[in-house]
Amino acid sequence: MDALSPSLKADDSAPVPSPLRTWGLPALAVALATIALLPLPDFWIIQLNYIGIYTLPVLGLVLLTGVCGLTSFGQAAFVGVGAYTTAYLTTQMGLSPWLTLFMGLGITTVSALLIGAITLRMSGHYLPLATLAWALALYYLLGNLDALGKYDGILGVPGLELAGLELGKLRPFYALVWLIALLACVAVARLLDSRTGRAVRALAGGTQMAEAMGVDTFRYKVGVFVFAALLASVSGWLFAHFQQTVNPSPFGLQMGIEYLFMAVLGGAGHVWGAIAGAGIVKLLEDQLQVLLPKLIGTSGNYELIVFGILIVLVLKYLPDGLWEAIDRRIPRAHRRQDWAQAPALPVQPKPEADSLMLDVRAIRKEFGGLVAVNDISFQIRAGQITGLIGPNGAGKSTTFNLITGVLELTGGEVLFRGERISGLGSREIARRGVARTFQHVKMVPDMTVLENVALGAHLRSHKGALSAMLRLDRAEERQLFAEAERQLRRVGMGAYLHHKAGDLSMGPQRLLEIARALCVDPALLLLDEPAAGLRHKEKQELAEVLRALRAEGMAILLVEHDMGLVMDICDHIVVMEFGTHLMEGTPAQVQQSDKVRAAYLGTEH
Ligand code: ADP
Ligand code: MG
Repeated sequence: MDALSPSLKADDSAPVPSPLRTWGLPALAVALATIALLPLPDFWIIQLNYIGIYTLPVLGLVLLTGVCGLTSFGQAAFVGVGAYTTAYLTTQMGLSPWLTLFMGLGITTVSALLIGAITLRMSGHYLPLATLAWALALYYLLGNLDALGKYDGILGVPGLELAGLELGKLRPFYALVWLIALLACVAVARLLDSRTGRAVRALAGGTQMAEAMGVDTFRYKVGVFVFAALLASVSGWLFAHFQQTVNPSPFGLQMGIEYLFMAVLGGAGHVWGAIAGAGIVKLLEDQLQVLLPKLIGTSGNYELIVFGILIVLVLKYLPDGLWEAIDRRIPRAHRRQDWAQAPALPVQPKPEADSLMLDVRAIRKEFGGLVAVNDISFQIRAGQITGLIGPNGAGKSTTFNLITGVLELTGGEVLFRGERISGLGSREIARRGVARTFQHVKMVPDMTVLENVALGAHLRSHKGALSAMLRLDRAEERQLFAEAERQLRRVGMGAYLHHKAGDLSMGPQRLLEIARALCVDPALLLLDEPAAGLRHKEKQELAEVLRALRAEGMAILLVEHDMGLVMDICDHIVVMEFGTHLMEGTPAQVQQSDKVRAAYLGTEH
């Protein structure tokens, strides 16, 4: 069934793929290679080496802060871990730098896992505060340990050698740094365009929606934090062998803030913004360090003041950074639609018609003194649309949250297909075949409609970050996109596949949420006000879609204020008022009820 209608008609023609998007990376690689061949003064090669070294921790922040919305002041400290590990082990124990690289990565993993595991379960400012403490603690530790040379650091760190060739500080080192930096950029770009990436991109909007789609948000947050720390650690390893000496100052809090600044300036959500940010800040810093003391007449770190002013200006005028301003002007290429032949994702066996799907038994939720849901009971059967209605504040959305594990019950229990699901988390409930939409649409605004909907099939796929970076996930990706497209077409959104979700108006946004919920492959679908903001025609199409789902045996729980729609499509209706169960029955019985009329009088109709 394809309910595509004139009211939902949109431009389905592919925008012209921009050569800048396809050729951006090879062009950059060629440009960097050409630079190496030009007779540039050594000074510039060294500058470019620093920019490459800085790009790595900034890239980590692009992922952590720009994409996931998690702020860390401790990236410089992780750079320090990588630098000091290799400096100590190569000078004191004579180990090969190619071995100590991995030792540094090991120590970094352990420390990042510890910090992440402790702080990332808590929301709010715990991570930034913990990374502040980590940055300060490591700085003073490095500065006070005799074995690490206190504030003088470690001298005589060997330069890198590869197959007998000294990499030194100039062109051979430049080749290594930029090879690593570009590989890291490609890896992160690929990651963002994958199942893992979509899950990670959903984190910035809070955990509720992602968890409802089966994403283990804590695991992904810790994963991103550790990955960002590993990038920083590689940077530290390069730094130590480039400078051939280490001391605590480049790994302190000030540098931690500077890395954040590079990420924000470059464009915290963009991979290429990392290179732009690192480049601009490094070059500007050098110019200002020479220029400002001359202007002012005394020496000092005046460039920090300029950076402070710059960051305020950037946040005000270019909140998404410099790269976003460029990115906006490059036409977006369509995702190549290569999934037509992809085999379908596995589906769960469907329940028998009329079987009991959901048994809600005296569920209760108290918020302090307020009883939002007061011992509510009702049942939902397969192949039926059950309406849950009641005036605003009656407790309908809270009931949804109790059933789907977003909120913990104060009392009562919920059984799904005969098994108790109350007490389980959202993720586990979704895995059993319960999918939902939200009264206030929750999506990832800067992902396409297709990508947003593919997120719904998270639990039906399994490829991880490494597969994504190595592009071993493409077969599964095609399956995911085939499923997402199928569900989008089913709700009449076939014309919107490649639109940015954030650009949609309310009606299509709600349909996107329904398609995403259908991607979960649910046996029970909970829709919270799906028709709010829809036009008349769109509502009729929605009713058609719901009828078709019912015919397939889906159990649907519908919260909706449009009484015409509710009375038209529901088989059974439960009415709530002030958290209590007012009555239930067929639409005709509900319409004739004086109690219901009184409850709605003056509020709805
Ligand atoms: P409905 O969806 O029927 O309009 P809700 O379930 O959203 O109603 O809300 C029911 C009642 O519970 C309202 O009085 C609301 O203010 C209250 N409520 C909902 N969520 C919370 C919360 N997280 N904390 C405190 N009170 C809440
Ligand atoms: Mg509500």
